[in-house]
Amino acid sequence: MRAFGFQQHGSLDKLRLMDLPDPHPGPGEVRVAMRVAGLNHLDLFTLEGIPGINVPLPHVLAGDGSGIVDEVGDGVDRSLIGQKTLVDPSLSDGTCEWCRKGQENFCQDYRIVGEHTNGTAADYAIIPQANAVPLPERLDWEAGGGVGLVFMTAWRALRTVGELREGDRVAIIGAGGGLVTAAIQIARHTGARVTVATRSREKGDRALDLGADEVVVHSREQPLSKSLWEASEKKGFDVIFDSTGKATFALSARALARGGRLVFCGGTTGSIVEIDLRGLFWRGASLRGSTMATRKEFREVLSLLADGSLHPVVDRVFPLEEGAQAMERFSQGDIFGKVLLRIRP
Ligand SMILES: [Zn+2]
Repeated sequence: MRAFGFQQHGSLDKLRLMDLPDPHPGPGEVRVAMRVAGLNHLDLFTLEGIPGINVPLPHVLAGDGSGIVDEVGDGVDRSLIGQKTLVDPSLSDGTCEWCRKGQENFCQDYRIVGEHTNGTAADYAIIPQANAVPLPERLDWEAGGGVGLVFMTAWRALRTVGELREGDRVAIIGAGGGLVTAAIQIARHTGARVTVATRSREKGDRALDLGADEVVVHSREQPLSKSLWEASEKKGFDVIFDSTGKATFALSARALARGGRLVFCGGTTGSIVEIDLRGLFWRGASLRGSTMATRKEFREVLSLLADGSLHPVVDRVFPLEEGAQAMERFSQGDIFGKVLLRIRP
């Protein structure tokens, strides 16, 4: 089969379209004949090599995707064959203490499709039966192929970890990636007042179209912390969602309200930050890490995609053969929404 990934960790020049043996599902697994795979920033981290995670090489990238189940392993109901499927990228053992409490994202053996295991950017992907989610009717292959990771992550970060409620002021840092296009819509759906901070006026306009109430464009002359503070009428934000990390984190934190929560994940510009604690404890503010989501949270956000309350935003679709160009576009960061790979028509 054709598979997009790498045989050696490194930078973008290590990306390859590879020819690998067709895989077959083991017990409890299904094979998905992929239609669309969705790229995430995580794929860049996986390509570089994440300390502590040893993936067998060659490695197939991408955790999101849509396709049709075409083969099932032992113990899986054969009626699943033919099911239009959306890939849930969260892998958990289902048996540990955390899984038994319904907190699968804290599983002691937590893994992500395409990060720890071969991913969806291939003619076929093997996933546990439980990760083959019926594709909601409203979503086509492209819409379904890019929603999993970003919508589940934004949902948990804002709703569960950030405790975002109707009427809260929320600031979302950045306006282009798939994660923030999901976060803007989720914050809006929650009934919060949504401010988006970006360096790009054009992306800011598109954020308004997605439901942001207000956009602040920051720059060297108009720093992020000052822009946010003024936008909040000098009260600060109840919740700030920052997936950018190093470039913005300390500045975001200065715009928290009393009791405010800075929710973070990703750290796409770097993960080592320096921050002034005095401003935080004085206001009783907190920093809260978040990643991925539980199965229950994923079902909740999926139901809102299924009924049309939330919409996947697609930046561009590349053929599988142009995976390297897709990753390059992605790495440059000048995107709005999801970058996808079309595997079959
Ligand atoms: Zn577990």
